[in-house]
Amino acid sequence: KVSLAKRVSALTPSTTLAITAKAKEMKAQGIDVIGLGAGEPDFNTPKHIIQAAYDSLIEGHTKYTPSGGTAQLKEAVISKFKQDQNLTYKPAEIIVTSGAKHALYTLFQVLLDDGDEVIIPTPYWVSYPEQVKLAGGNPVIVEGKQENSYKITPEQLSESITERTKAVIINSPSNPTGMIYSAEELKAIGQICLEKNILIVSDEIYEKLVYDGNTHTSIAEISEELKEQTIVINGVSKSHSMTGWRIGYAAGNETVIKAMTNLASHSTSNPTTTSQYGAVAAYMGDQQPVEDMRKSFEERLNIVFEKLNNIPGFDCIKPQGAFYLFPNVKEAARITGYDSVDLFVQALLEDAKVAVIPGSGFGSEDNIRLSYATSLESMEQAIERIHEFVVKKS
Ligand code: PLP
Repeated sequence: KVSLAKRVSALTPSTTLAITAKAKEMKAQGIDVIGLGAGEPDFNTPKHIIQAAYDSLIEGHTKYTPSGGTAQLKEAVISKFKQDQNLTYKPAEIIVTSGAKHALYTLFQVLLDDGDEVIIPTPYWVSYPEQVKLAGGNPVIVEGKQENSYKITPEQLSESITERTKAVIINSPSNPTGMIYSAEELKAIGQICLEKNILIVSDEIYEKLVYDGNTHTSIAEISEELKEQTIVINGVSKSHSMTGWRIGYAAGNETVIKAMTNLASHSTSNPTTTSQYGAVAAYMGDQQPVEDMRKSFEERLNIVFEKLNNIPGFDCIKPQGAFYLFPNVKEAARITGYDSVDLFVQALLEDAKVAVIPGSGFGSEDNIRLSYATSLESMEQAIERIHEFVVKKS
């Protein structure tokens, strides 16, 4: 009989995956389910990236690379930072990882001792608390309130800091809310982090997906001091529709990056060589496909947003970025006779045949997440189904 380590038995299974699995099972039975659970762009990777990866294989680049990524990709990442944020990094301040997720995982492993605290604002990306716990840390959950567009205030941050606080995670644009922290908000949060010497983990994976004239600011570009206080996490998964390629990176303090590279050398070794060649092409090549994908998401958002908000009991703040809608549906659950949003979500799947993700997995019991990384037609049909379901049941 196998007994598992305590640290994995405490892992919470992903709610996202559970509902997606059930939707898949229903589809396999021939049931017409519309899935709005997707966490990845629905476009193929731009052709020139695929070509560059293919060429690299034919040219024989099929071996290990340095654990922290090729010099060429680090240079491409450095030039991206220079161009987009006017930030200057040295190669020793960059590590390329197997996706942004693994950059975060490795970061918490090298940063945290048992009992160290990491402040995580709600609604949060599902993996943050689990990754912190896996590193022996304690997630300190701080509520980003709806009235503050699901963002935490500097006062809330101050109140949550203890002598064990090591870091705070800022995810802007946010998964699941699509909200963006403004430069002023970041400055105020950054000031506290500087005063209390709290490391800022800035997850900027949705940086390129911003809409309606909204812009992304990296907290690292606000001042030199803040750049030194921040580890930026980013990657090509969402910007270049390369989720399956598994290329992300972290940028910041050389000592932290060196420790991460050391750990990577004993765990993953380098991220897939072929994918690194693809990522170089992603950053050094034509950026038009990135803009084209952004425009498609923006168009979808602007078509479906009002329709979603018109469903009785749905209360949604218009997302500024990423590709998710995160309405508060507490009232919709109440008027349709469900005691919780989780039960409402189950009924949506079984009755309306629409799969959405319950907000409980993101630390927000009253919300659901719908992804618009799917065709406009499916999205509109799904919203119609939800609307009819709510009307029928109330
Ligand atoms: N951070 C956030 C907020 C995400 O939503 C995701 C992916 O869903 C990631 C990081 C991980 O990205 P990657 O696919 O590069 O590991």
